Amino acid sequence: MALIVQKYGGTSVGNPERIKNVAKRVAKFQAEGHQVVVVVSAMSGETNRLIALAKDISATPDPRELDVVISTGEQVTIGLLCMALKEAGVEARSYTGAQVRILTDSSFTKARILDIDGENMRRDLDAGSVVVVAGFQGVDEQGNITTLGRGGSDTTGVALAAALKADECQIYTDVDGVYTTDPRIVPEARKLDTITFEEMLEMASLGSKVLQIRSVEFAGKYKVKLRVLSSFEDGGEGTLITVEEDKNMEQPIISGIAFNRDEAKITVQGVPDKPGIAYQILGPVADANIDVDMIIQNVSHDGTTDFSFTVNRPDYDKAIKVLEQVKAHTGAREVNGDRTMAKVSIVGVGMRSHPGVASRMFRTLAEEGINIQMISTSEIKISVVIDEKYLELAVRVLHRAFGLDQAPA
Ligand code: ASP
Ligand code: MG
Repeated sequence: MALIVQKYGGTSVGNPERIKNVAKRVAKFQAEGHQVVVVVSAMSGETNRLIALAKDISATPDPRELDVVISTGEQVTIGLLCMALKEAGVEARSYTGAQVRILTDSSFTKARILDIDGENMRRDLDAGSVVVVAGFQGVDEQGNITTLGRGGSDTTGVALAAALKADECQIYTDVDGVYTTDPRIVPEARKLDTITFEEMLEMASLGSKVLQIRSVEFAGKYKVKLRVLSSFEDGGEGTLITVEEDKNMEQPIISGIAFNRDEAKITVQGVPDKPGIAYQILGPVADANIDVDMIIQNVSHDGTTDFSFTVNRPDYDKAIKVLEQVKAHTGAREVNGDRTMAKVSIVGVGMRSHPGVASRMFRTLAEEGINIQMISTSEIKISVVIDEKYLELAVRVLHRAFGLDQAPA
């Protein structure tokens, strides 16, 4: 007998028929003798609808009240799923985050989980009940309802699995696992049987939307056995996210290709090259709450240098405005940029032991005449910024160049 936490995303519970299907799957696991804790998202589109509703009332909704509103989607799903389970002859009890006592800090709309009280859940499980918990929500020390950020039900699932020391956390979604890249762009993309936490973390933060980044961090930290599976197909093994790369297996050099379309590049030209200049440029950008990603400072000529960085495209106009002011008091020559950039990243722990990965990437792009505008690397990833119009081509040729369309031997 195993204790399994299963998380179902919005599409998997998108209508009554699908909720009944989830109930069937849960019933099957229980009939096999497992204890099951289910975490659900709001029905698909519901959280967006609630946010829009709030915005109709206030352009800048009070964060505490916003959480009161947007946490309700999940509460509907837990009740409906428990009803469906009972119809299927399975004992089930629903819990909101507060009823479990998923204690979080008080950062409304992006709260962090501090502690989970497992007692109620354990008691129900031992009594033979399925436990159904609302994802994405918690409660702070003062009893305020909090939410965990978009996609936060993944994190609820992993956190419950860690707290209950579950044997496995299964994330059911509308894809049947983690792919080498987005199959909508590369039809030859393959489902991975395993991927390491480190790789998954890079993939998630570089644009792969399968799992919320924080859930992956959490699972890595607490060594939760995490698996991504399809809620629409039975019998698949999905993708297992592993702690250690399997030492006995030949690792592929690259495990996946992630990309992000929504990038923009900004260059501040002719800034005086002296201590403090990076801070003078990026300080005001950070103060304006704009995330900066890749940063490049060139070698200087005649005491001035060029300074480039990327921001998320929706922040582009705001960033340019901030920098016009920076230009005025640093004496920079010019601020310009391009809002149609994209980032393509190759990810793989195999890079550590294989030289020449970067050069193969650059050669592949060069052969297609794709100009690389910026490069950044870490131990297990190489990212390039290119013109957005070459994004799909770049992903396709890299996928082929690194042999990702072929099943590993
Ligand atoms: N319902 C929330 C959202 O749409 C949380 C989740 O689905 O994970 O972001
Ligand atoms: Mg989700």
